[in-house]
Amino acid sequence: MKIIDRLNEDRIHISFEVFPPKTDDGIEKVFAATDEIAKLDPAFISVTYGAGGGTSRNTARIATHIKDDLNVLSLAHLTCASSTKEEVRDVIENLKDLGIENILALRGDIPANMTFPDAERFRYAWELVEEIKRHGDFCIGAACYPEGHVENEHKADDIRYLKQKVDCGVDFLTTQMFFDNDIHYNFLYRIREAGITVPVLPGIMPITSASQMRRSRELSGTVFPRRFLSILDRFGGSPGAMRQAGIAYATDQIIDLLANGVKNIHIYSMNKPDVAAAIMNNLSEIIKC
Ligand SMILES: Cc1cc2nc3c(=O)[nH]c(=O)nc-3n(C[C@H](O)[C@H](O)[C@H](O)COP(=O)(O)OP(=O)(O)OC[C@H]3O[C@@H](n4cnc5c(N)ncnc54)[C@H](O)[C@@H]3O)c2cc1C
Repeated sequence: MKIIDRLNEDRIHISFEVFPPKTDDGIEKVFAATDEIAKLDPAFISVTYGAGGGTSRNTARIATHIKDDLNVLSLAHLTCASSTKEEVRDVIENLKDLGIENILALRGDIPANMTFPDAERFRYAWELVEEIKRHGDFCIGAACYPEGHVENEHKADDIRYLKQKVDCGVDFLTTQMFFDNDIHYNFLYRIREAGITVPVLPGIMPITSASQMRRSRELSGTVFPRRFLSILDRFGGSPGAMRQAGIAYATDQIIDLLANGVKNIHIYSMNKPDVAAAIMNNLSEIIKC
């Protein structure tokens, strides 16, 4: 089944994300995490993609496990910046052979030591979207950035390029993490005004430790509001308290989004089924509305 068909149903959908292990040794642990998350009745589980090597191979393995063994829709991420066009085509063909119908098409970050762009590689995610469409009838998701993508100084350009990407055949968008819902509402208004009409899944990252917050800020350049920073100041030194506060903060963000008419939410659950379960427990009655 295609994820877009699920997203178009008139009900609340919550999806989760896992990431592959760095080496094959860790795969059983990730399978165990997916098995627990599957019990939460997710709309789908997405699997991130690392550049090259075992990580990228394992994305397909994990997505297949989710789909075939757990009977849950899976979304395989695929990046193109660090692979040649030929390598990317092979991955798409492999996903097709495995019966994976849903792909999140991404450019990926550009490795520091690489000359980019070059003729061997796709330069932007929209080129990957077009390539995926040439290989079959996939449901294609793509990324978007409520605070703007870090490489682009001008948010208006970012939205113009996002529209071009969606027009190449993107079925839905998932946002970069954000911690202030007003930023998301403002972004939604601007992209709708720009004529982007596909479903947008807000990406919610439960931050359960001070180190995770630092990593997230480095990775995404996101703004942490004062309310979040107070939580970190007060509870960052106490792992149990920070975990509880981080889960409460993410829950609060989700409740506000749902109260404002958002129907589909993606949780960056980061191979932590206990965190995913705690949030779902907090929402148990709410998601029935
Ligand atoms: C939901 C989500 C999931 C992610 N999953 C992964 C993952 O699994 N693995 C991973 O490595 N990374 C992942 N990332 C990170 C992502 O790969 C990086 O943010 C990357 O830098 C941009 O990828 P993109 O697909 O958004 O690129 P693009 O859409 O190609 O945009 C990249 C930049 O180019 C600009 N641009 C686009 N088109 C044009 C144009 N025609 N002319 C000029 N400029 C243009 C954009 O404004 C932007 O600044 C994810 C990000 C998100 C939000």
